[in-house]
Amino acid sequence: MSEKVKIAVVGGGIVGSTTAFYLSQHSQYEVALFDSGIGQATSAAAGIICPWLSQRRNKQWYQLAASGAAFYPQLMQDLGEDPARSDIYRQVGTLVFKKTPKLLAKLEKIALKRREDAPTIGKLAILSPEEIKEKTPLLETTESALFASGGAKVDGALLTGKLKEKAQKNGASVYNDEVQLTIELGEKQPYRLKTETNQYSFDKVVLAVGAWLPGLLEPLGYAVDIRPQKGQLVELHLDAKTDDWPVVMPDGEKDIIPFANGKVIVGATHENDQGYDLEPTKKQLRVMLDEAIEIAPGLADADIKGIRVGTRAYTSDFAPFFGEVSDAPGLYAASGLGSSGLTSGPMIAKILVQLINGEVTYLPVRDYPIENYIKK
Ligand SMILES: Cc1cc2nc3c(=O)[nH]c(=O)nc-3n(C[C@H](O)[C@H](O)[C@H](O)COP(=O)(O)OP(=O)(O)OC[C@H]3O[C@@H](n4cnc5c(N)ncnc54)[C@H](O)[C@@H]3O)c2cc1C
Repeated sequence: MSEKVKIAVVGGGIVGSTTAFYLSQHSQYEVALFDSGIGQATSAAAGIICPWLSQRRNKQWYQLAASGAAFYPQLMQDLGEDPARSDIYRQVGTLVFKKTPKLLAKLEKIALKRREDAPTIGKLAILSPEEIKEKTPLLETTESALFASGGAKVDGALLTGKLKEKAQKNGASVYNDEVQLTIELGEKQPYRLKTETNQYSFDKVVLAVGAWLPGLLEPLGYAVDIRPQKGQLVELHLDAKTDDWPVVMPDGEKDIIPFANGKVIVGATHENDQGYDLEPTKKQLRVMLDEAIEIAPGLADADIKGIRVGTRAYTSDFAPFFGEVSDAPGLYAASGLGSSGLTSGPMIAKILVQLINGEVTYLPVRDYPIENYIKK
């Protein structure tokens, strides 16, 4: 019997957990996932899946985000979840507001054009304030909004929990440890991961550590173009049946995402000058909450359940990257997912698994060139 290929995934956010899940479906791999969990963007994230109606960074970014949104129903099916009923992910539609009716009409035109290649966007309509009120009792507005029925919400913490559970059922090992990487090229199982108490050797390693990639690769002589961005949001509880309320994207930073069982998220901030800090900044959160209450006055009566703080990863040109690290065959990495990583993360993970399997990838990896961001 041939020996199994030992693969480690470092990082248990959306990219790492999805990678471990899909790898664990292959009997020729022995899979281990290591995750410290500190600062994780995925479990802090707002959970909006609606890449078609925001400003397009560039063609490659849009292609990745739109394919990521289209991939979600498949991921849910692979996990045995019903996309129409699941508390993890649900397509409830998105309401997008703009400053003026003219800008709203322009957005509708763009959305109709984008729908030609992205049918996941679903039905599009400009809704009157009365129609908005019918969709969600949360909003008190005199403005119209664009509704896209394919917009969805995803609970990052529930999703990674499910992915890890399924990966474990398929035989993967999950460790809640921070690791350090060393490489002994030329040796059998050249990738060594060290926790506080143990050392493990692997044939291949996938680094899915988000904003912490420099910390793992720079000691090995690589320069890594990644910087952290702090993001905070508020978790509220409303006494209402919120499960099917649409996601609300007013003009500006604060979005309102109603999840199942009264959970409502308001966020998020984008702070570039705070490094890896994870302390909540009350003033920023209060301003955001006040702005949300202006459009959704009912939120003033909601209980504050908690504050979430996470660290996003950005490259200097805001583009995500993934693939095999040059000079290190069998070492893969993905990072720079920015503020759309919950949307694109599962697609990136699927592509990493396709690369490891030697299969044709869903999107061309050369469009997200890792060598531009990780240099020896
Ligand atoms: C407040 C906020 C709101 C957001 N809202 C949205 C949204 O609405 N829609 C959307 O699409 N995206 C959103 N994002 C972006 C999205 O969350 C991220 O882009 C995405 O989750 C990144 O996933 P990742 O797997 O690359 O990294 P992460 O989720 O950050 O996971 C990396 C993991 O690696 C672990 N790790 C790091 N170093 C080590 C080590 N040495 N050993 C072991 N483990 C290690 C970390 O602890 C962490 O658990 C939001 C982000 C934030 C912070």
